[in-house]
Amino acid sequence: MACALECHRRGLRVALLERGRAGQEASWAAAGMLAVHDPENPPALTALAELSVALYPSFLASLQQQTGQHVPLETAWALEAAAGEIADIAPPGINPYGFRRVRESSVDPRKLTAAALAAVQRSGIDLREGTAMKSYSVTAAGATVHLSDGTTLACSAVVDCTGAWSNAGVHPTKGQMLRVHAPDALKAGVVGNVVVRQGTFYMVPRLDGSVVIGATLEDAGFDKTVRADDLQHLRQRAMRLLPHLAHAPELECWAGLRPDTPDHLPLLGAVPNPHGATVRTVIAAGHFRNGILLAPGTAHVVAQLLHGEAPAVTLDAFAPQRFASQPA
Ligand SMILES: Cc1cc2nc3c(=O)[nH]c(=O)nc-3n(C[C@H](O)[C@H](O)[C@H](O)COP(=O)(O)OP(=O)(O)OC[C@H]3O[C@@H](n4cnc5c(N)ncnc54)[C@H](O)[C@@H]3O)c2cc1C
Repeated sequence: MACALECHRRGLRVALLERGRAGQEASWAAAGMLAVHDPENPPALTALAELSVALYPSFLASLQQQTGQHVPLETAWALEAAAGEIADIAPPGINPYGFRRVRESSVDPRKLTAAALAAVQRSGIDLREGTAMKSYSVTAAGATVHLSDGTTLACSAVVDCTGAWSNAGVHPTKGQMLRVHAPDALKAGVVGNVVVRQGTFYMVPRLDGSVVIGATLEDAGFDKTVRADDLQHLRQRAMRLLPHLAHAPELECWAGLRPDTPDHLPLLGAVPNPHGATVRTVIAAGHFRNGILLAPGTAHVVAQLLHGEAPAVTLDAFAPQRFASQPA
């Protein structure tokens, strides 16, 4: 949806195909950390992540201007595990030893996807929910997309942003999470609510007083089953950091499918077209643990590629065909 909105803003006529309902898969399931400098991120992600986080204020302002929906930054700081360091401030009950405080925001992906969908619906973008792209073919004259309803769509460019379902070398990595009611549990004095992160485990406070606790990283195909023992394990990790979360009532639990790649870097770039440079195929998939963070940066770069411009950051590490010889 971010790609569609940016391409539309830049004057392209856009059709957005969604096989289910827009904004209900990984982007709905995420924790929403804009973890630009998370030590778990591959170093090659830094430039795109920094571009994207810099674009976030205008991305959110634009959504608000188009829809009236305000998507707030829910937090402004994170405590990140860092051996030998001591955080200068921490929520009561959390031992500050082994943490550092980092400037990092988070958003609620449910609010973000709802606002993006509303913006798409108001924009004049041709949104076709319940319509899957089955395949596409490219000739010198243009691209033809074959749809699940048996029709075809003629266009001059195709962007594959099918997340974990992209067959360009992406596989799903399942993540289970739970959300508990724990107002002020992660309130760290004057800096307010903070995200607490230890490796790939995290607790993310929301403005409504709940805390998202996540997440598992599982190779489970496209299965989205939620398992009580996995949730219990997540809650135990949370309790080790903050014992009084033991009794926080559970509000909901869910699983989502991160679009993962063998090197955990996205596939982002144009695919060479043997028939001529005017028909463009762009892949924008495989954003793994950071697709919320990377949404505006990815949209910016995709629109640049479709306009034949040099991308704002080097895409060398994200070459979309680097896994072409491997089975998708
Ligand atoms: C548990 C969990 C926690 C996460 N936490 C964070 C976080 O804190 N911060 C962060 O930045 N990121 C996080 N992520 C990662 C982030 O959610 C993803 O990287 C991002 O949402 C990927 O966006 P996407 O649009 O590529 O994929 P999706 O949101 O999955 O969207 C892809 C869409 O394509 C549709 N589709 C698939 N195939 C077709 C087809 N053939 N035709 C038409 N439509 C099709 C699907 O139905 C889907 O709606 C998390 C993910 C999970 C699962």
